[in-house]
Amino acid sequence: MPPRRFFIEPADIKENIATLRAPEARHLSSVLRLKPENEIRLFDGTGKVYQARITAISKTEVTAEIITQEEYIPPTPHLHLGQALLKGKKMDFIVQKATELGVASIAPFISEHCEVKRISKTHESRWQRVSLEACKQCNRPIPLACSAVYDFKSFIAASSHHESKLIFWEKEATTSVKDLRLDRLQINSIMIAIGPEGGFSDNEISLAKEAGFQSVSLGKRIMRAETATLSTMAILQFLLGNLDLE
Ligand code: SAH
Repeated sequence: MPPRRFFIEPADIKENIATLRAPEARHLSSVLRLKPENEIRLFDGTGKVYQARITAISKTEVTAEIITQEEYIPPTPHLHLGQALLKGKKMDFIVQKATELGVASIAPFISEHCEVKRISKTHESRWQRVSLEACKQCNRPIPLACSAVYDFKSFIAASSHHESKLIFWEKEATTSVKDLRLDRLQINSIMIAIGPEGGFSDNEISLAKEAGFQSVSLGKRIMRAETATLSTMAILQFLLGNLDLE
């Protein structure tokens, strides 16, 4: 079995000794029942990946000796997701899937037809937790970056630096996702925007287009927002070469 994976604070690695604390330490000893001498893989969340061997286990701490260290560099172009807030647990689902599909960041926004107009203050820490768990499961060293919630206009303004910007619109009649020619050598970052259950307003589409977004169709069937997001992330990562082996 490949070594189990854990996240560790960069400050908890000193020289070649790593100290895992609760709840990771508890999970390692009580749930996974790992023992001294077992090898583990550690991510510090910034891209450093360590192979380590457990040296000691107590109730609250696990120490491990670092064997090797490497630096993970996320593949380019980086795919960023602009997501209108969705109801219930759908955002947690999207954060999890975006992590698994290698999306770099999520920028949540509130648009005209959003049914959710407010979000709990703890959402950022919850999404970070969801993303960390997904990272451990899928062997991704750097979690999804989550930004604060924007209103639609400030989302558009904050997206200006992306070299390619796409807005997915069920009324788009000319450009289909299969017409996209994404030359991966020429772009470093791409932003995709997906609307809420109620869709984007025509006004929002005009605003986005004026700011350089291209509107794109996923075909003639109108998908639920979370289906559109999941499909778009998978299609784009495929087109960008981010599902390749190397
Ligand atoms: N309220 C609209 C549908 C909104 S679908 C209606 O009932 O007609 C929710 C979001 O998913 C949309 O804002 C869009 O971003 C995306 N989406 C769904 N189907 C799509 C399609 N066929 N093409 C492009 N985007 C689509």
